[in-house]
Amino acid sequence: MNKSKQLIFDGHNDTITNLYYPHRGGGRSFFVRSERGHIDLPRARTGGLAGGLFAVFVTNDNWMKGPPKEDLTVRKGGYEIKLASPVPFEKARATTRLLVDSFFDLIEQSGRQMKLACTVEEIKQCVGDNVLAAVLHFEGAETIDTDLAALHEYYKQGLRSLGICWSRPNAYGCGVPFRFPASPDTGPGLTEDGKRLVRECNRLGILIDLAHLNLKGFFDVAAITDKPLVVSHSAAHALCASARNLTDRQLDAIKESHGLIGVSFFRNDLRGDGELEPDTPLSALVDQVRYLVDRIGVEHVAFGSDFDGATVPRELGDAAGLPKLVDALRQAGFNRDELDKVCFHNWMRVLGDTWK
Ligand SMILES: [Zn+2]
Repeated sequence: MNKSKQLIFDGHNDTITNLYYPHRGGGRSFFVRSERGHIDLPRARTGGLAGGLFAVFVTNDNWMKGPPKEDLTVRKGGYEIKLASPVPFEKARATTRLLVDSFFDLIEQSGRQMKLACTVEEIKQCVGDNVLAAVLHFEGAETIDTDLAALHEYYKQGLRSLGICWSRPNAYGCGVPFRFPASPDTGPGLTEDGKRLVRECNRLGILIDLAHLNLKGFFDVAAITDKPLVVSHSAAHALCASARNLTDRQLDAIKESHGLIGVSFFRNDLRGDGELEPDTPLSALVDQVRYLVDRIGVEHVAFGSDFDGATVPRELGDAAGLPKLVDALRQAGFNRDELDKVCFHNWMRVLGDTWK
């Protein structure tokens, strides 16, 4: 049995936001091992985290510290949070600028321990050099004006992944609310501008992330795109009926496109009972991976932790705990080749197919 550290590439973290806002990260340093948040450089190294998609996320003022209390209803076996309201373009633009600057500051301050990666070759070079590979991702396209000038500008700066929506409407489409039990079929599909955005991302070679997008939007993208379908952080609706999760029909479309789903570690996306209980067993995460692999094949399943943006199983803890997840998967019967695919290679294949 191979016990050497498993290399992991992760499809989604909110580390940039967590570090930037003191009410989230508490002013911790990325370069010092902390008990706060989930990812810092020492914990990434301990856990085998070789790189990932680093999200720039713009929030509404009333969501600054999580869902507004008046918008949240919790009952036995479920919860309902009203769909977040749109973020004005000017606010999105200004906040994105600050967060992108802080992303590049972090790379600068790392003294070559963390690098921007725009190609699979660059990610692999980072892995070889024991450098953390950071792909720049926007979680929601609010900051992209519909003339798409900002898309080209940020592409030049290194943007290689774009989520069309977060859980709110914007000029391009509409996200799903946080709700359980609920279908992801929650509203209209892409706008005409949304369809143009997809075509332009295809042309430039920017990954389109379908996480948080509603069902009609998902299938609108599927009908247009010539790239693999990717949902960076989500899970199977069949096991956890959250509106954020994917129906079997969506999963089958991912398989057909040779894309992937990054399995979220967020307890709300994992728990079948809809309880907002932090002490979620790691087995719920293993069950998700098992279900997804059985449904759409091991080539189409990867990780999308949502570290630094979500409550994850206490047993896992943080990035340093990733080997516990790998061990649990191994004990559940996944062999070395399968683990290599889920932990690392599937992301490399999909990014390579998208960026070329
Ligand atoms: Zn998210």
